[in-house]
Amino acid sequence: MGEHAAKTVLITGPASGIGWAAAQRFAAAGWRCVLVDRNGGALDRLVLGLPATAGAPHLVRVADLTQPDQIAALALGAPALDAIINNAGMSDSSNVPLAEQDAAQLARLVALNLDAPARVYAALARVLRPGARIVNVASGAGLHAIPWRGAYSPSKAGLIEQTKALARVRPELCVSALCPGFVRTELVETLIEAGRLDPARAVEKTPIGRMADPAELAEALFFLAGEGAPLSGQTLCVDGGSSVYGGSAACTPTPFAPLPLDTPLRLNVIDDTAERWAGMGRDGERECYPATLDASVLDADPGKRLAAVHAAAVRFASRHAKQASLTLLLPHEADDADWHAAGDSGAARMLVATLACEWGARALRINALAVNPQANAHTVTRLGPLVHFVAGAQAQFVTGQTWRAAD
Ligand code: NAD
Repeated sequence: MGEHAAKTVLITGPASGIGWAAAQRFAAAGWRCVLVDRNGGALDRLVLGLPATAGAPHLVRVADLTQPDQIAALALGAPALDAIINNAGMSDSSNVPLAEQDAAQLARLVALNLDAPARVYAALARVLRPGARIVNVASGAGLHAIPWRGAYSPSKAGLIEQTKALARVRPELCVSALCPGFVRTELVETLIEAGRLDPARAVEKTPIGRMADPAELAEALFFLAGEGAPLSGQTLCVDGGSSVYGGSAACTPTPFAPLPLDTPLRLNVIDDTAERWAGMGRDGERECYPATLDASVLDADPGKRLAAVHAAAVRFASRHAKQASLTLLLPHEADDADWHAAGDSGAARMLVATLACEWGARALRINALAVNPQANAHTVTRLGPLVHFVAGAQAQFVTGQTWRAAD
């Protein structure tokens, strides 16, 4: 395979944690990786452990991404890229209250978490292959304010907005954000072992009742950057439902360890009367991950969608006690939608999130995809990879979410 044939991804911050898990996932799938980190020693060591690609070897580029000139230099000799994953990020553990921080303290964190993703894209835009994908690793902290961590939440909220804006101006690319919840990276494991971090506190805020393994984030990054993901401008929360949880009681720890992420999917389809979705079904044996795609809500009249989601949930819960997923198709709203029906639709989406919170500890998941009710066969086919990802074992930490599929 020649250099031009190998799919190539550039990953920032791959010397540890989520970035390293992602590099392993892409390399295992035959991608060539360009690894960009300030920690050159770790990169040189780690790259030896990556599965080799046929043809061109993986590349290591040492750069401090808070320095614009070092980002600009990444363009020199850069290979053609199919994807960029802006993953490098830092938190602020100084405990200094925001109003007592000087501008330089804020600026350093913002330079890495918010400015670097934009600069990396700008530096490498000319080597992107047609249809390339950009994934920015934000955080649940960008959706809810986390105090005493300096500008961490603002920088991640900014990154989510920047992602949406870039998706609008570059519609030919697929630009998306990943929001991880609590992840057991090596660093987090070390803190837990040293008694400096209590994993129970993280689990209390997570309906799925456990923390994520970095490999679960790597699966999501591989999906967003590598497959037909019609989620441009959107955010994928891989957070066990923590971003939708608003309860005051502690979430219950789950007794269920996740199934292997490559467990095959068995997908049962409950179609709407237009019968366009059955082709997404997957047969499987007993050891498969059981999932349901339910399109029945597309048949519900405006004003009846909350009731239809509830009926679908009752049906699913009567068949599954644990470790299974329900993916609902909801009709997405036209901008001029009948205002009388808007409350019902909003209630239906929040019912999805609320069910996710009630079901989480049993590893029962529910997500929804808002689709054009008149979706044609082409749209249905294009949504296949997204449905199979969300419904499947790779997404066992994804629950309570509703995305809008592009037409
Ligand atoms: P990590 O600290 O384990 O790894 C960060 C990587 O970025 C390291 O390889 C580090 O060397 C590199 N890096 C740091 N500063 C850099 C700089 N100035 N220039 C170049 N490289 C630099 O982090 P992680 O926990 O794997 O997190 C990865 C991303 O996920 C971050 O953006 C983080 O904010 C986000 N995130 C993590 C969690 C979690 O629970 N771990 C939760 C939500 C979001």
